[in-house]
Amino acid sequence: MGTVKTEATLAPEKMDALIAKLTEVCGANDVNATQAELYAYASDSSIHRAMPDVIVRPETTQEVSEIVKLANEYLIPIIGRGAGTALCGHTVPIDGGIIVDFQKMNEILEKHIEDLYVVVEPGVICDDLNKELAKDGFFFPPDPGSSHSCTIGGMVIANASGQRAVKYGATRDFTMGLETVLPNGEIVQMGTRTVKDASGLQLARLMVGSEGVLGLVTKIILKVVPKPQKTASAVATFDTLEKAAKCVGDIIKAPVVAARMEFMDNVCIQAVNTAQNMGLPDVESILLIGVDGHPASVDDEIRKIEEICKASGALDVRFTTDPKEEAKLWSGRKAMTCSPTTWASRCRRSPRPRRRSGRSPTSTGSTSRPTATRETATSTPRSSWTRRTRSTGTTSRRP
Ligand SMILES: Cc1cc2nc3c(=O)[nH]c(=O)nc-3n(C[C@H](O)[C@H](O)[C@H](O)COP(=O)(O)OP(=O)(O)OC[C@H]3O[C@@H](n4cnc5c(N)ncnc54)[C@H](O)[C@@H]3O)c2cc1C
Repeated sequence: MGTVKTEATLAPEKMDALIAKLTEVCGANDVNATQAELYAYASDSSIHRAMPDVIVRPETTQEVSEIVKLANEYLIPIIGRGAGTALCGHTVPIDGGIIVDFQKMNEILEKHIEDLYVVVEPGVICDDLNKELAKDGFFFPPDPGSSHSCTIGGMVIANASGQRAVKYGATRDFTMGLETVLPNGEIVQMGTRTVKDASGLQLARLMVGSEGVLGLVTKIILKVVPKPQKTASAVATFDTLEKAAKCVGDIIKAPVVAARMEFMDNVCIQAVNTAQNMGLPDVESILLIGVDGHPASVDDEIRKIEEICKASGALDVRFTTDPKEEAKLWSGRKAMTCSPTTWASRCRRSPRPRRRSGRSPTSTGSTSRPTATRETATSTPRSSWTRRTRSTGTTSRRP
């Protein structure tokens, strides 16, 4: 799918002049208009496709501001881009224009764990941030299926949510403040560095989910929370979709606030088993349920979930508290959303080091984007899965 432009965005001599001015701002290495490069930026993880006119990779807020002012001067569209994992064509330049690629603004600038926040540049990858926070026993909960490659900037502008949204909230709920370059090039600070933010307009919240129409984000103040002491995950199988769907409501109104809950039908089960060698049971429907928190409350929630699943007609309920088993289970679920060709091609872009050396002691040091390779496990170790059968409720180990 795509838009075939019949007219040039700008007359050739004007485009040359714009590119020359952009080069003055960002340097020759970070302004690119070769066909190969433009082609690489003509799509995201959606089905849409349209060629941009020029790609720029700023390293500072000031550079972003200068780029926006030039876009105004030349009356050309301008589109921010993180990792290009958005699924709706957000970053596809249907009217051509300048793509502002934030991949070089990828540093964790400040960590204030004692005050429950960090300050990051927009190009920081979600999983890289969580790796850094894990050192302090903290985390940033929004967890889209693309977390290994999507950027915090893209998550803010798309208000990315993911598997933990019901218990923890989406990206908007963790965005305390933003530095933004407005459409006229002006640099503004929005929001706060305090978790309690009771008075005044909450402009940062307005920016979150704005899908790129209100400005370009150059710095983000994010709330972080302590990692739960214990987690557990369950797989409940059902012989109808209806029973599984009803079980979700039964768990919520019990009440059990699951950290995450995902529903899979047989098509998804087959897809994940084929792609990930997950070994999920070949049934009509599966519920994946994750709980987290204090160890005592997790144990209690496991017991309640088991009872509720059985009462809802589950064929089988299995739990694990082994972090590796849990990670495999949820990564299998994440892989379900994948649009393999476009997504993989976006993630495979080669690393681009900054022009200047790193500025932050808390820099992730991440110089490359993870590739979108699939896990190729040849077997599914299941020794830590605890099985609870419907008929007897007895507990047994899987073979
Ligand atoms: C396999 C897969 C699973 C996914 N799972 C989920 C999911 O569970 N939940 C969910 O919510 N989403 C999901 N997504 C969608 C997508 O990953 C998210 O929306 C993600 O937040 C996009 O981040 P990105 O860095 O790729 O942003 P991009 O796709 O590059 O951009 C997204 C939007 O942000 C704008 N933008 C990017 N950076 C900036 C900036 N600095 N300033 C201003 N605008 C900017 C772009 O113009 C665009 O409008 C999934 C996508 C894939 C491929």
